[in-house]
Amino acid sequence: MTNSKKINKKDIGGLLKEWSQEFTVFIPWRESGVAMLDKWDGTDTGFIDWYRNTVKPAKANFFPPMEEMFRFQKGREGYHIELPLDEHKQLIFGIRPCDARSLAILDMTFTESYQDPYYLPKRNNAVLIGLGCLKPYDSCFCTSLGISPAESTDVDLMLTDIGDQFLVKEITQKGKELIARASQVEEATEADEARAKEVRKAAYGKVTRRIDTKAISEKLLSCFDNQDYWEKVAAKCISCGICTFLCPTCYCFDINDELVKRQGARFRSWDSCAFPIYTKMPMENPRVEKWRRVRQRVCHKFEFYPMNFGTIACTGCGRCIRLCPVNWDITQTLDKLPG
Ligand code: SF4
Ligand code: SF4
Repeated sequence: MTNSKKINKKDIGGLLKEWSQEFTVFIPWRESGVAMLDKWDGTDTGFIDWYRNTVKPAKANFFPPMEEMFRFQKGREGYHIELPLDEHKQLIFGIRPCDARSLAILDMTFTESYQDPYYLPKRNNAVLIGLGCLKPYDSCFCTSLGISPAESTDVDLMLTDIGDQFLVKEITQKGKELIARASQVEEATEADEARAKEVRKAAYGKVTRRIDTKAISEKLLSCFDNQDYWEKVAAKCISCGICTFLCPTCYCFDINDELVKRQGARFRSWDSCAFPIYTKMPMENPRVEKWRRVRQRVCHKFEFYPMNFGTIACTGCGRCIRLCPVNWDITQTLDKLPG
C-alpha cells in the first residue's frame, strides 16, 4: 500500500470526460502551431505526446489579457452598474510546476495588497492538475528558483509519467476528493513510486541553465545607479512587451472605458513596464529611457517583489528568453551584474 494512485494513459480521455461534467476542462492545445491552454474538445488527448509548455501561461485563465470589469448605463437618476458574474469552475489539466508556482506568486499580488474581485473567484473555483515536465527547454532555469520540473505542491494533483501510466500524487484535499470520485484510478505500487522518483530525478538533471540567486537583491541594489551597465544590457531590447505579457508572474494592467451614447463598459487589459508610455504622467515620465524600463523589469522581479512579498517573482520558465524577438536573456543580465 502506497500513498499514491495511478492511471493508464489510455484512460485519460475517460477521466477528462468525467471531470467535464463538473468543470470546464482546459488542456494544452495547439492552435496554428502555438501551444496554449484551451477548452478540451471532448476527444483529443494527443498533447500527452507533444506537449512541452504553453506559450501563453496559465495566468491568462485567471487574469485574462482583456477582461470586462463592469457595464454601466446612464439614466435619469445616475449610473446603473452591472457586475459580471463568473461562477464557472475550471479544471486545468497538464499545468507545469513552474506555472503552478507562478499562480501561487500571483495569489500574493491579488490577495495581500488587496482582494482582487476578478482574479480570486476564478482561482477559488479552479482545480490544477500538474503534469511533470520531462523535456525542459534550454531556456528553462526553474531549478535555480527552487522548483523541480516534475514535482509540485502548488497543484491539487501531481502526475508523473511512468511509461504507460501516470503516477498520481494527491496534494490537496480538493485533489483527494476529485481522485476519490474518479473511476479509472488504481492504487500505485512501490515499484511505481520508485519509477516516478527516478523520472523526477532525471527531469531535474535536464535543467542545465542556472542562475545564482544568493544575494541577488543586494547585488541589484548596489548596481541600481550603474547607468552604463543598464544601457549596455538594454541596448538590443525593442520594447515590444512580449516578455512581460507572456511572463506568468507579470500582472500590470491598464483600465479603459468604452462608451457609446449613454452606455458602456470598463475593461482592464494587460499592460507592460517595457512600454515608454507606461509611466507617463501629466507632468513627467520617470522611465522615458529604455534602460530604466529594463532595469525596472529585472529589479521588480528580483529585488522589489522579494522586499514586498518575501519571494522572487520569477519561476525560471524561460519564456522571456525563448520568445523575445531579439534573444534578450535575463539570465545573462543577472549573471553579469557588476559587484
Ligand atoms: S521581449 Fe525582448 S525585445 Fe521585447 S521588451 Fe522584452 S526584452 Fe525587450
Ligand atoms: S521573468 Fe522570464 S523566466 Fe522568469 S517567470 Fe517571467 S518569463 Fe519566466
